[in-house]
Amino acid sequence: MVMKTIKLTALFFILLLFMNITTTEAAGAVKIAYTVTFPEAQAHYADVEMNISGLAQNTLDLKMPVWTPGSYLVREFAKNVESFSVSANGKDIRSPKINKNTWRINAAGVSAITVKYRVYCFEISVRTSFVDASHGFLSTTGIFIYPDKMLNTPSTIKIVPYKGWTTVSTSLEAVNGDTFTRYSPNFDILFDSPVEVGTQDVFGFEAAGVKYEVCMVGGGNYDKEMLKIDMAKIVEQETKIFGENPNKHYVFIVHNYQRGGGGLEHLSSTTLGASRDNYTNPAGYRGFLGLVAHEHFHLWNVKRLRPIALGPFDYDNENYTTDLWIAEGFTAYYQNLVLRHAQITSPEIYLTAITNEINTIENQPGAKIQPLAEASFDAWIKSYRPNENSANTGISYYDKGAMVAMLLDLEIINDSKGKYSLDNVMKYMYDTYYKQKNRGYTDEEFKQGLEKFAGKNLDDFYKNYIYGLTPLDYNKYLGYAGYKIVDEAAGSNEPSLGVITAENAGKKYVIGVQRGGAGWVDGINVNDELTAVDGAPITDMGSVLDGKKVGDKISVTVLRDGLPLTLPVTLLRNNRLRYKVESLPNVSPQQMVVRKKWMGLLGE
Ligand SMILES: [Zn+2]
Repeated sequence: MVMKTIKLTALFFILLLFMNITTTEAAGAVKIAYTVTFPEAQAHYADVEMNISGLAQNTLDLKMPVWTPGSYLVREFAKNVESFSVSANGKDIRSPKINKNTWRINAAGVSAITVKYRVYCFEISVRTSFVDASHGFLSTTGIFIYPDKMLNTPSTIKIVPYKGWTTVSTSLEAVNGDTFTRYSPNFDILFDSPVEVGTQDVFGFEAAGVKYEVCMVGGGNYDKEMLKIDMAKIVEQETKIFGENPNKHYVFIVHNYQRGGGGLEHLSSTTLGASRDNYTNPAGYRGFLGLVAHEHFHLWNVKRLRPIALGPFDYDNENYTTDLWIAEGFTAYYQNLVLRHAQITSPEIYLTAITNEINTIENQPGAKIQPLAEASFDAWIKSYRPNENSANTGISYYDKGAMVAMLLDLEIINDSKGKYSLDNVMKYMYDTYYKQKNRGYTDEEFKQGLEKFAGKNLDDFYKNYIYGLTPLDYNKYLGYAGYKIVDEAAGSNEPSLGVITAENAGKKYVIGVQRGGAGWVDGINVNDELTAVDGAPITDMGSVLDGKKVGDKISVTVLRDGLPLTLPVTLLRNNRLRYKVESLPNVSPQQMVVRKKWMGLLGE
């Protein structure tokens, strides 16, 4: 099927051989060869030539995906394509577009065609292509046009580097040892294999029996030897959870920027964004390792063990799932847990990460509006298209999904008296749905997997926390491990305007209005420029409410669309929660069993 990799390549050849022997009409007769050149890399162009042979049809539709798996937004990659032409036997063939991402070719009487087009690549992110004179990053969904209904066709990709470029990094296999020519067994794999070409710094390590390649683009103050050791620990720890590492070769493509972040998972590789000077800062380095742990965990969770809607993919449309809280939220949970279990971070740092996650969720008004399953389903139109009201109306399936994973982990460890954990569920689901059934799981099947190890029915859990808006009962579940949360801001009676501001050229603009806060109630708007409080010009937002109390009526003067407006505002209590995870004063033996298993304290 679509999601396999190197292992499948061998199988593919065997199948091809078999088909050639047993059938006269070989399904693999169509051959596709791409050549990518960069004659104008400095102006951000990749030039693609695609040669298709073995055609036997009157009409051929060529398409470009509208999205890239893992990043749930229709990005319309065809918008970057220009100078599209098709020829056969040296003659041009008409190739009109029939919709935003499809070109229709009259292929009657021709068996081979050449397609040429240029792609403008100037969007810096882990899921879009970028080319300049220093390097080229090909996010393949936005580079390679494919023949409709031929997703299973293999292809070769020849990269002709721009002057000075020496190195290609991708998980696609080299053809005959030529690093500039790569082979893809089918389009699902091609679209899941980004390609970096340039002068990157490449180093490797071996872990869990797999050859890892790290490709560093853009420089940085990283310590290679330290990275090799810590990244190998992460790989080993994650492999232990699933019981096997399905790759033979895996590539980390790291883009180092002045300020960078984010990552995108692939089957046998990942692209990470990092800040080039952050590696020597302990928190920055931990953050990078967290990103490594997150994206690498995805090679199992979402790339192989996956919601049924996420593979095989529909590259023309949104692919809806209510399970991103598992695909992303569980991965976000494990990214911290894996660092703790690999003894990279201390128990204190782990608990701080949990604390931050809880505060993020509980201070987000949208947590009371949008259920977790809905946040996942609407990722395409909401979380990937945030606006000024997002915090008031939605919740992140990363943050809340991670905390739901924590509650479930604690539940399973507690119920089984330390025998099982969420790890067992992940391995069971991977074995059952990826390895045995070779398909994605349904919502119900994942729930059954959880119930199998929790030893109880989770109907209410799902009703409350996944489909409903019941606040997560942290104290119940953390209590299993002898912890509780305490709100350190509980006694405060500080007044607040309930708005978020940003300064631009000395002016203070409202960029967010918190649902239910004073500004919300009394009509301060996003984009208002705050100019005065009680007639006194505002110089510093930090001291604007000095001497004021909750319940005070003040006047706030704003410039709205250039016009002055004075609003009476009644100050409300700053209801920001400041939770901290603390140990209970007395921890029972059972709680200690749960704590040790959860926190990976067994050897300590
Ligand atoms: Zn992720």
